Amino acid sequence: MNKIVSQLRPGSSSPATMSDTAPVSQRTLKTSIGCTGIGLHSGAKVTMVLHPADHDTGIRFRRIDIAGGGAIIPAHWASVHDTRMNSCLRNDDGVVVGTVEHLMAALAGMNIDNCLIDINGPEVPVMDGSAAPFLFLIECAGVVEQDAPRRAIKVLKRVVVKDGDRVASLTPSSGFSVRFEIDFASTAISRQEFFVNLSRGTFKSEISRARTFGFEQEVSMLRAHGLARGGSLDNAVVIDSTGTRVLNDDGLRYGDEFVRHKVLDAVGDLYLAGAPLLGHFHGVRSGHAVNNQLLRALFADQTAWTYSTTTPGSAAAPFIAAPARAVVNG
Ligand SMILES: [Zn+2]
Repeated sequence: MNKIVSQLRPGSSSPATMSDTAPVSQRTLKTSIGCTGIGLHSGAKVTMVLHPADHDTGIRFRRIDIAGGGAIIPAHWASVHDTRMNSCLRNDDGVVVGTVEHLMAALAGMNIDNCLIDINGPEVPVMDGSAAPFLFLIECAGVVEQDAPRRAIKVLKRVVVKDGDRVASLTPSSGFSVRFEIDFASTAISRQEFFVNLSRGTFKSEISRARTFGFEQEVSMLRAHGLARGGSLDNAVVIDSTGTRVLNDDGLRYGDEFVRHKVLDAVGDLYLAGAPLLGHFHGVRSGHAVNNQLLRALFADQTAWTYSTTTPGSAAAPFIAAPARAVVNG
C-alpha cells in the first residue's frame, strides 16, 4: 500500500517541502503530471509527463513519438553517450533523450526512486534553466512511499578522475554532500566555491533555483554545432561579451548562482548512478563529461562501492550490506 508523504493541500499557498530526513522506503509520484517547454539545445517544443512507477523500476524515459519497443531509455550512467553542454542518454536502439540533468537533479532532491517520464521529443524542456520548475511539478503531483526498501550506493574508498585541470572525486561519507569550485576569467563569475550537505533536505532552498549560464560570444559557435538553439535570457544567465556583466534584467537569483548551478548539474549527473549516493563529491571545474567518467570509474572498481539500506539523511540507521546482486543496471 502506498502512503502519501507530500502533497499540495487544497487551498494551501505553498507546496509541502522536503523532510529533513531522507525516507527509507522507495518513493514515486502520487499521480501523473506534465509540462510543455522548449529544448535548450534543439529549440524544439516538447511535452513531458512524469508518471508514477512500480518499486525497483528506477527512473526511465519513454520517447512516445517513436513507435515500437525501442522507446524506453533508462536514466543510467552507462546510457550517457554525449556530454557536450548537457548529459544525453541513448538506449541500445539508438534512441536519445538529452539535457536530462536538471530533471534528474529535481528527482534526486525529492528522493524519487521510481518514475516513468513520457516525452515527445529528443530533449527535456529547459523551462527556466534551473531545477525549480521540475521540483514544483513533483510537489504538485505529490509523493508516495512504496513497499520496498530504499537502497543507496555507499562509496567505500576514494575514486578520482582528472581531465586536464578538471577534477572530480568521490570519498566515503555518512551522508551526501557536494563541494564545487569554479574559476572563470570572466569577472562576472571569477572564482566561486560552494559546499552543501544535501542529506539535510537543502536542495530546494540552496540549489534548485540556480540557472544554467553561458557567454554572449559563445552563442553563435554553439548554434553552429546545433546547440543552444532554444537558449535565451528566459532560460539561462547570459554574460556579455566583455565578461563583466550579466545581461538578464533581473540579475542573479543567488550571488554565487554559477557555482550553485554546477552543483545542481553534478547532483543530476550523479543520480544517473541508479540510486542515491552515500558519499562526498568534490568537483573542480568538472562538467558532465568528467561527472560521467567518475561514475564509470566508481562502478569499474567493485571494491569502491556497495549497496546500503542506509540512505543519505538516515545516517543513524544501522548499516546492512545488501544481498549480492549484479552491478547496477537500469
Ligand atoms: Zn545545467
